[in-house]
Amino acid sequence: MNGSGGKLKRETRLPIADSRSFKSETRPLYPQRPTGKWHNRRVVFSIAIITLLFVTPFIRIGGQPLVLFNVIERKIILFGIFIGPQDYWLFGLTMLSFFVFIVLFTTVFGRLWCGWACPQTVFMEMVFRKIEYAIEGDAGKQKLLDKAPWTSDKILKKGLKYTIFLLISFAIANVLLAYVLGTDELCKIIAEPIEDHIGLFSGIVIFTAVFYWNFAWLREQACTVVCPYGRLQSVLLDHNSINVAYDHERGEPRGKLHKGADRTEGDCVSCFQCVAVCPTGIDIRNGTQMECVSCTACIDACDSIMEKVGFQKGLIRYTSENAIVQKTTKIVTPRTWGYAAVLLLLWSALGFVVATRTDTQTTLFRAPGSRYIENTDGTISNLYTFKIFNKTNRIIKPSLHLDAPHGKLLFAGSPDLTLEAAGMSEGTVFVVIPKSALKSRKTVLKLSVSQGNRQLESFESTFIAPEE
Ligand code: SF4
Ligand code: SF4
Repeated sequence: MNGSGGKLKRETRLPIADSRSFKSETRPLYPQRPTGKWHNRRVVFSIAIITLLFVTPFIRIGGQPLVLFNVIERKIILFGIFIGPQDYWLFGLTMLSFFVFIVLFTTVFGRLWCGWACPQTVFMEMVFRKIEYAIEGDAGKQKLLDKAPWTSDKILKKGLKYTIFLLISFAIANVLLAYVLGTDELCKIIAEPIEDHIGLFSGIVIFTAVFYWNFAWLREQACTVVCPYGRLQSVLLDHNSINVAYDHERGEPRGKLHKGADRTEGDCVSCFQCVAVCPTGIDIRNGTQMECVSCTACIDACDSIMEKVGFQKGLIRYTSENAIVQKTTKIVTPRTWGYAAVLLLLWSALGFVVATRTDTQTTLFRAPGSRYIENTDGTISNLYTFKIFNKTNRIIKPSLHLDAPHGKLLFAGSPDLTLEAAGMSEGTVFVVIPKSALKSRKTVLKLSVSQGNRQLESFESTFIAPEE
């Protein structure tokens, strides 16, 4: 017994991401515990993601963290590459590439990220929600418990749940701090007296409170109201994007199943199971909606119903609007080609910037208001001010050299040019060149910065001599 499978079509199609009016429930939501093939796959994937999130800050390459996002001091390390305050090109191109990649990925695969890899969904659905189910039971029991008077059983269950929520929020806050400050700093805060790190400890407390509030109270609203990525879906998705979607061609017109009667409706039996399991409280049958985080719970719920009533599975599945209506899937479209071309250009520029990047960045200018000095030994001097920036996350002991023309550098005093990680040193220096080596009033100086025998950087400046 199969339904009419799309003989009758819906008269109107909803535009992508137009959904606010279809909120089917008011808060708090009580989504039913999801089960099924897709959920099991997500559990395995989530374990991998959570492990990765907790382990990554401890991974080091050549003594450097694999990743560090110290936005406070603008020190970022991505896969061992240090991006300091001087690397505005590298930083800008990395951010731009990341943004274009997100646009391209979303255009093709919809909100795959949200459902499978976003830490908010992973922790909410796979950690906090599971603890809730384990302590309070499935949706119906949770609803009853919330309505019930404050008995010792309710106090125990709520107390236990929120205590565990708080502990996990504390653990997540610590991991976040490890990403921002590095594991060394985090270990210091843990090992040393709190009063020595009161600022950072306050940070952990604030982050714990924010995470606790987010996972205990804000929940799906982080995705549907706060997250800017969710709000961008209306411009990023098109009718070729792969999403969790309801096959309205096959499902409509929906109608209850009546035993023994010939079915004239579509395959949707109006069981509302897809709505019951939805963690954002929407009805996927109303079309692709901004609130959908592609969690796949409705796929499993509907498949289980289809199996029970003897219909083909996949009424809700990963597919595109065009695949449903025109029965064609076109992943590579002119739009995706365009995004891919932009991304390729950006990655090429990024590769060039990384390949030509130097460990130091030096500026050397003639001291303001200074003129050349004619020395009695037949040489000419120019006075310069210089700044050397360390673009790495390690200490550098640089030395400044004059490579051409032949001459020497005379520093004021004996300056210590040692550069702390991402640090800067500055000073003044005389460049002294024999008159015989100067052919014109303006001469290009070739200088370099080295550490030991390794040249870190070369650059040019201008030397002024008297007119012949
Ligand atoms: S679970 Fe499937 S059959 Fe049930 S209401 Fe949703 S789409 Fe229709
Ligand atoms: S509509 Fe389906 S995939 Fe989207 S959030 Fe709800 S249950 Fe998850």
